[in-house]
Amino acid sequence: MILKKNRRAIVVALWAGLSIILPIAESSAEKASSMKKTGTAAMKKHEPEALAWLKKWVDINSFTLNVAGVNEVGKSTAEAFAQLGFQAKFVPSKKPVAGNHLILIKRGEGKAGGKSVAFVSHLDTVYSPEEEKRLGFAWKREGDRIYGPGVIDCKGGTALVWLMLKTLSEAEPDLYRRFTFYFFINATEEGFHHHFAEVVTPYLASRIEACLVVEPETLQAQGFQGSFRVVTARKGGGRFVIESMGQGGHAGNAHASGVNAIRQLARAVEAAESLTDPSREVTVNVGMFSGGVAPNRIPESAQASGDVRAFSQPHLTQTVEALKKIAKLPPLKSGDGKKSSTLRVKIADIMPPMSDNEATSKLFEVWERAGKESGARVEKLRRGGMSDANMLFDQVPTLDGLGPLGDNMHCSVHDPASGKEAEFLFLPAFLSKAQLNNRALLEILTAPPILSTGNK
Ligand SMILES: [Zn+2]
Repeated sequence: MILKKNRRAIVVALWAGLSIILPIAESSAEKASSMKKTGTAAMKKHEPEALAWLKKWVDINSFTLNVAGVNEVGKSTAEAFAQLGFQAKFVPSKKPVAGNHLILIKRGEGKAGGKSVAFVSHLDTVYSPEEEKRLGFAWKREGDRIYGPGVIDCKGGTALVWLMLKTLSEAEPDLYRRFTFYFFINATEEGFHHHFAEVVTPYLASRIEACLVVEPETLQAQGFQGSFRVVTARKGGGRFVIESMGQGGHAGNAHASGVNAIRQLARAVEAAESLTDPSREVTVNVGMFSGGVAPNRIPESAQASGDVRAFSQPHLTQTVEALKKIAKLPPLKSGDGKKSSTLRVKIADIMPPMSDNEATSKLFEVWERAGKESGARVEKLRRGGMSDANMLFDQVPTLDGLGPLGDNMHCSVHDPASGKEAEFLFLPAFLSKAQLNNRALLEILTAPPILSTGNK
């Protein structure tokens, strides 16, 4: 216990000095006197550089399908981290039409015992070049907000890691040298593909204390009050397609011989949607529906597609099985009784949920302590959206939502008059979040390896 307390005191002393925006306890501040200038000064001094890198990346369109753009952001990111001693490896994605994943490694020297920490971000965004051009969606600084495609999702996360490590390398050069840092950056995160996890998995066999995912944190409705929310659970899920086949025919002359594929699909959609169960936090959403050719023709075929999500693997599995059974709904018969409809259900891109788990909880406690030391509250957040954390959390202790604060991810329309605001980064909290993360990072690096047990 005493050892643990001392270790905490050292961590506080090292990073109390980094507090610019957040108030800190007096006793900690005294202990931190030697670090006060270097830590604070380094982070403040390098923030403009971090934002300059961020602007560079936001200025390059990196829509998942814009291969050249994704690769250009990858190259520029590798350049930024080369300054911090990272070596880059570009790994072609197995997804058809996709850029290269980026693996950055800074090897530790000396006797750190092989301890290491991994960060995770992504290169791609959801905005096509055409969309950005049409809407004039580009880097724009307005008051305390910076708008731009990917400015928090997830280029801002990458810039935040750069600022954290730049500060650490200057304020704590010996410590920085000793430890190994990995930075895994996905080329296809928005494109829903498993290959990135396959690329990353071999690295996870080495002793990684924590996997820190820098997806953005949503600014709360009341604005920034000095508290943070990090993501400890994410829903898993997948996509489904329901195909309905009927019998086409003339709507006037031969109605009795036709089987309306749209009508049968409507029944299937109702069955799918009714699998939504708020008491178990399970959702089924049919997001697309199409079929038929003309009003005076009985539709021969129709199809719908949707998305299923759940926080627990058993709930997800049960719901997927129930979706598959929709194919067995009673067929629709033609008026003359000679023909009947058929249904087919296809399930794809299943991603496991990042369920509540012990290792993530332990990591959360590290962030909670880091917050307390600077007077900031850190809360747990369970999110319905997926990230790379879903694919990694069962291999290595993982925490998500460690990126910068902002809002409106995946929104490109900016029209304040009609209440529409595009993706933005909330600048006043950028340093605070980097400081919080660095405090926690220091505890991870200097603590006994209580977190390296994995989740299996
Ligand atoms: Zn993201």
